Amino acid sequence: MTNNNIYFIANWKMYGNTKDIEKTKPIIRLSKSKKYKKVKIVYCPPYTLLKDFFIKIKKTRISVGAQNCHQNFNFGPFTGSINTKLIKSTGAKYIIIGHSESRNDGDNDQDINKKINAALKENLKIIFCIGEKLKEKKKNKTFSVLKKQIKNGLKGIKKFDNIIIAYEPVWSIGTGLIPKNFELKKNINIIKKIIGSLNKYNKIKIIYGGSVNPENIKELSKISEIDGFIIGGASTNPKKFIDIIKKSIN
Ligand code: PEP
Repeated sequence: MTNNNIYFIANWKMYGNTKDIEKTKPIIRLSKSKKYKKVKIVYCPPYTLLKDFFIKIKKTRISVGAQNCHQNFNFGPFTGSINTKLIKSTGAKYIIIGHSESRNDGDNDQDINKKINAALKENLKIIFCIGEKLKEKKKNKTFSVLKKQIKNGLKGIKKFDNIIIAYEPVWSIGTGLIPKNFELKKNINIIKKIIGSLNKYNKIKIIYGGSVNPENIKELSKISEIDGFIIGGASTNPKKFIDIIKKSIN
């Protein structure tokens, strides 16, 4: 595991209600301990809970993030949508863009590029998700898929300081399957190389996502190139979430 800040992004997907905000209590307690000062926790609840989460965590070291946004930066007639200005107004500092579940819902690389630009304009920190599908992995297409997603997603973007890459193999999300450490290390290094070839940036932070749980976190944490994790299912369970954080630090 890296010596820098370690990110734990809690992606609550389409789960949670106002009562569930109380689940942050033990995590807030943990985040106050000196031992965990390098831990950077970001809760990404559904849009409807962003403000309530922000109120709950605003005096802590924890942050809040959105799970997506509309590609239009400006306000407009887009019923049912929310842009990065509205997200920023809730107190959110982060945003997930390009999650495979949003790509499944229709987001393509061009939409993702527009969303990243809109998020940068609002100074939000972006968790840019990329990853190959199982059939692409089987056809040895992982490299070309990652390259295409990165090049198109970051097209025209000059500064990567506010961008964190979340490598999330699609076959690993919600399935209980995770890549072997050697494979993960290889793909993280591939991502670094692709980013480096775009603008010689060598400080990009790369986190891993896909079925992270208290049982596999110790093994995953052995990878020195990893800057943290994006955690779906297990992050809605405070016991599991704390266990993951503790085991990855010790
Ligand atoms: C995710 O949704 O980003 C994710 C990693 O989900 P899970 O941990 O449930 O696989």
